[in-house]
Amino acid sequence: MHELGIMTDVLDTALRVCEENNGKKVTKITLKVGLMSGIIPSYVQSFFDVISKDTKASGAKLEIISDPAVFICRKCGNTTVYDALGPEYVCKDCGSPALRMSSGYGFQIVNVGII
Ligand SMILES: [Zn+2]
Repeated sequence: MHELGIMTDVLDTALRVCEENNGKKVTKITLKVGLMSGIIPSYVQSFFDVISKDTKASGAKLEIISDPAVFICRKCGNTTVYDALGPEYVCKDCGSPALRMSSGYGFQIVNVGII
């Protein structure tokens, strides 16, 4: 239920933005979701639909921007970018699995659209 806690935060933020701008309704929320964040984009909308019921954000469309995973190789220092989940992650230069993640595990609200 990882998504549920996160979506509750997203809803709170969206409602606050709506309130602060005297909006009638939240129409769209743009989220940046890291590939390695553990958040499954296809679940996000359905979770949101449930928790936003009877709020000003009910019916808002979620737009998900996928943030690729960026790894730094501990062996050769090169950077490897993955934009899809793989069965394994190795350095594309030297093949070493000794990678350090530098980006792609985050989650961010990029924009809240209101009317
Ligand atoms: Zn390497």
